[in-house]
Amino acid sequence: MMNQPDAIVIGSGPNGLAAAIEIARAGRKVLVLEAEPTIGGGVRSAELTLPGFVHDICSAVHPLAIASPFFRTLPLDAHGLRWVTPPLMLAHPLDDGSAATVAKSVDETAAQMGADGAAYRRLLGGVVNAWPQLEPAILGPLRIPAHPFALARFGLSAVQPAALLARRRFSTPGARALFAGIAAHGMVPLDQRPTAAFGLVLGAAAHVAGWVFPRGGAQSLTDALAAYFRSLGGEIVTGQRVASVDDLPAARAVLCDLSPRPLLKIAGHRFPDWYRQKLEQYRYGSGVFKVDWALETPVPWRASACAQAGTVHVGGTLEEIERGEQEAWSGRTPDRPFVLVAQPSRFDTTRAPADRQTVWGYCHVPRGSSEDMLPRIEAQIERFAPGFRERVLARSVMRPADVERHNANYVGGDIGAGVSDIPQLFLRPTRLMYSTPVRGLYICSASTPPGVGVHGMCGYFAAKRALNEVLRG
Ligand SMILES: Cc1cc2nc3c(=O)[nH]c(=O)nc-3n(C[C@H](O)[C@H](O)[C@H](O)COP(=O)(O)OP(=O)(O)OC[C@H]3O[C@@H](n4cnc5c(N)ncnc54)[C@H](O)[C@@H]3O)c2cc1C
Repeated sequence: MMNQPDAIVIGSGPNGLAAAIEIARAGRKVLVLEAEPTIGGGVRSAELTLPGFVHDICSAVHPLAIASPFFRTLPLDAHGLRWVTPPLMLAHPLDDGSAATVAKSVDETAAQMGADGAAYRRLLGGVVNAWPQLEPAILGPLRIPAHPFALARFGLSAVQPAALLARRRFSTPGARALFAGIAAHGMVPLDQRPTAAFGLVLGAAAHVAGWVFPRGGAQSLTDALAAYFRSLGGEIVTGQRVASVDDLPAARAVLCDLSPRPLLKIAGHRFPDWYRQKLEQYRYGSGVFKVDWALETPVPWRASACAQAGTVHVGGTLEEIERGEQEAWSGRTPDRPFVLVAQPSRFDTTRAPADRQTVWGYCHVPRGSSEDMLPRIEAQIERFAPGFRERVLARSVMRPADVERHNANYVGGDIGAGVSDIPQLFLRPTRLMYSTPVRGLYICSASTPPGVGVHGMCGYFAAKRALNEVLRG
């Protein structure tokens, strides 16, 4: 293992690797310690079902990675990363056999929205046009905005509950359901503020960047980050679960790619009471129940547009999605869950043997739930794709407890590493954000701003702070 590193990063998720790269780029020696046998945290792929079928264990769709101001500065293509852009970013089927869709272009999307075309262009097109001014606020910590008017205009819509904004701005069931489905990625009930922000940011990201996949699987993004990091002289050691920060070799900075619960386990004894209590009070949200399928043929969607989409939102109307998300949040098992489905192998032949398919999907459930959601998830898909079950060759299932076992950050299966509601969205996990009361000890995970998603910005900002405070000079 590396001798006398300047900085140690605990965890090799996208934020851990981003932090490690930023510090290594500044000429410092960086060692990354990863608990699991493979690197990448929430950005890994494996043959979970059958040989030759490559599944994304956690994240699959990466609009925030391609939009990330930090990742944009890295030569990831030189390290093998290729993005795959499906013909349609998203399709949302309804019971009448139609589907609302999102294309890369705002105009094309608006054109298929019928009566809601103009409203879509105004709402989402407005965010897309203002994206360059909004980007620092969307993908960074709270600070004095350089473009206060653009931010205020965005904020007026973003701060609303998604269900309310959808009902106010759209009149057709398709447009309303589409917006609700995108907003539901935030894992906060759609009648709460600021869920419209998730719908607007992820919706606009479909146009600004695309809901893209890394060719070969999510692991290719991790591998490209790791290869670039190693080219800077960095070292990654896998199978090294840090049990206590006291066990680490001496270093000027330690950055933890951890959410508060696992952080408390390894560093809690170093913190003053007030800070420990704050971390203990940090709230985790709903869990997920995830399924990966190996299929004999593509999913037989009734609405033909779904075949062209990388992501398909399976959950029917706004009202149905709203109910399902509310149930999961308040501890009840949704009977008709909102299922997020991705079908990368349709557009990336490296993911499955010839003519076969891999499909990825999950739904939100109460945190820590042990309920078997498989029948309910498959019933929802079958509803919009009759004959789906007959094409399944094999399945892999992860309950919330499996998700947490797989990655200690996702407590109770909460893939957001903590609730993203107003109290916790901006100042996470405490008002110190990346810093802790211990000099040289930082948090760089998705439990810091700007939060959940594969963008590396939490790691980048934590690294900047460590460089400014303890690593320069
Ligand atoms: C099922 C699922 C689906 C998702 N889908 C998407 C998606 O499609 N798009 C998207 O943008 N995001 C998605 N996400 C969220 C995304 O994966 C996370 O937001 C992101 O990975 C967070 O990155 P991170 O670096 O903060 O932490 P993580 O990726 O969680 O990495 C933390 C790392 O720390 C390691 N670690 C933990 N404890 C220790 C220890 N004591 N010692 C050493 N190492 C340790 C872990 O093993 C892990 O490798 C999904 C997540 C899941 C689970």
